[in-house]
Amino acid sequence: MLRQVAQPLSVEEILKEETRALVEMMAEIMRSAPGVGLAAPQIGISLQVIVIEDCAEYLQRLSPEECEVRGRVPVPFHALVNPRLHVEDTSEETFFEGCLSVPGYLAYVPRARTVRVDALDLAAQPLTIRATGWYGRILQHEIDHLHGVLCVDRMRPRSLTSHDNYERFWRRQNDAEVQAFFAPAPPET
Ligand code: ZN
Repeated sequence: MLRQVAQPLSVEEILKEETRALVEMMAEIMRSAPGVGLAAPQIGISLQVIVIEDCAEYLQRLSPEECEVRGRVPVPFHALVNPRLHVEDTSEETFFEGCLSVPGYLAYVPRARTVRVDALDLAAQPLTIRATGWYGRILQHEIDHLHGVLCVDRMRPRSLTSHDNYERFWRRQNDAEVQAFFAPAPPET
């Protein structure tokens, strides 16, 4: 399921009670994980539905510097249906990110700096989002799930690390040093 392209929903399907129930279930699963985003294929439902929420409470676990560098600000809960992603600024930002479908691991993943997302809300009304920083990263990560793409497909391959080792070896490293270490080209042998 994680490797399939998810099905878009018709307006009639979006307005059905089942879709509202699906979004409520996804919100519950995302919050209990806890995570900042979830796509329907992650719970075995191949539909183009994602939910996102980045609470102020989660941000408190990071230092103000970590929030600043990552452009991480609270994002209220919302669901998006049939989202289409457009990269508006191709320059990349690379940080460690995790995925509820790759539990226990983090990887260093480059993402576009600024994206635009055209989607439908739960009333089947069109909306457009422009996002940078961590919110832009979450959108790219979750919309990838709707196309069968996981963060491990986009990661710097040498960077895959357990949560424990991230805390031990990488978390306190200066961002420029981590970036140099995981630069795209592998070291010469
Ligand atoms: Zn994920």
